[in-house]
Amino acid sequence: MALVVKKFGGSSVADAVCLKRVAGLIADTYRQGNEVVAVLSAQGDTTDDLIEKARAINPHPSPREMDMLLSTGEQISVSLCAMALESLDLPVVSLTGWQVGMVTDTNYGNARIKKLTAERIRMELDRKNIVIVAGFQGVNRYDDVTTLGRGGSDTTAVAIAAALRADVCEIYTDVDGVYTADPRLVKSARKLEEITYDEMLELATLGAQVLHNRSVELAKRFHVPLTVLSSFKQVPGTQVKEVLKVEQMNVSGVAKDNNVARIALVGLDDTPGIAFKVFSLLARQKINVDIILQSIGRGETKDISFTVSQNHLDAARATLEAHRDTIGFQEMIISDRISKVSIVGAGMVGNPGVASQMFEAIADANINIQMISTSEIKVSVLLDQKDADLAVQVIHNKFFA
Ligand code: ADP
Ligand code: ASP
Ligand code: MG
Repeated sequence: MALVVKKFGGSSVADAVCLKRVAGLIADTYRQGNEVVAVLSAQGDTTDDLIEKARAINPHPSPREMDMLLSTGEQISVSLCAMALESLDLPVVSLTGWQVGMVTDTNYGNARIKKLTAERIRMELDRKNIVIVAGFQGVNRYDDVTTLGRGGSDTTAVAIAAALRADVCEIYTDVDGVYTADPRLVKSARKLEEITYDEMLELATLGAQVLHNRSVELAKRFHVPLTVLSSFKQVPGTQVKEVLKVEQMNVSGVAKDNNVARIALVGLDDTPGIAFKVFSLLARQKINVDIILQSIGRGETKDISFTVSQNHLDAARATLEAHRDTIGFQEMIISDRISKVSIVGAGMVGNPGVASQMFEAIADANINIQMISTSEIKVSVLLDQKDADLAVQVIHNKFFA
């Protein structure tokens, strides 16, 4: 007997037919004598629809009420799925984030898990129940509902798998594994049999939405063996793990992120302390800054450009504008029609040719690079959003054709 955590994403539970298919997968595992906890996302585009609904009422709702609203999507899925299992005469109970003791911080809309007791889940499993848990939601120290950020049901599943020391955590989705690029964008993308936590974490952080990046972070920390697989067809998926059986490739994947905006501060004094002023102001507002580029000083001035996520753009602009005099920039130039395209691969270390191959592919496609950033296992370039899909394809061709 094993303890199996299964997570099903929005498209896997989109309608009654899908929910019955998911119930069938859960039932099979349970009937084989295993303990089963299933974590579900909201059906189809429910979360997006709820966001639209909120906007129609109030363009600037409080984050608390927004989470109260968004958490309802997952509650619909879990109750319906439990009903599907009831109709198969199986013992089942559906539970909310609050009921399973998913305690988070107070950062509405992007809350982090602080504690997960999972006692209720354990108790229900001991009663031989199948347990269906609402993904994406938790409760903070004020007993208010929070959500874990878009795509956060993956993180719910991994947290539960870690808390229960599950034998496996299976992430069922609408593709049959992790590919060398988004298979919807690059037709020749290849499925990876396995990938390391570190590479998967980078890919997820750099825009490959197949897994929520925090779920990978948690899986690595608590040694949760993860599998990504399809809920629509029964084929082997991708294992996410610490060490691979096969030899590491130089590059294991290409990712694209459109949720990027660039801010350039032009005409700053070329004196010590300017970068500190700018970035400490942003840090105080909890605005994450990604790629940073400072120009060489010319005469008395220099420029600093950096990227933030689109959802932080308004806050960043307002903060910088409010401190224009103390920072002392002449002009702020904002661009929100840009994308970040990245390659990831643990085999890049000590292979100086990899970055230049990427740049060659981009140059051959006559695409201009606006910024570059590198780390041991990734290279990212910032480019015009209209060029991003082509860039992903030519880079993918370069490394995988
Ligand atoms: P779910 O609703 O099941 O959580 P998501 O939409 O969040 O599913 O994630 C699955 C999607 O991730 C796929 O449909 C695919 O288009 C996209 N994706 C992006 N990059 C990759 C990749 N490298 N491998 C597989 N899928 C990817
Ligand atoms: N329903 C949430 C979202 O759409 C969480 C998830 O799907 O993982 O972001
Ligand atoms: Mg997802």
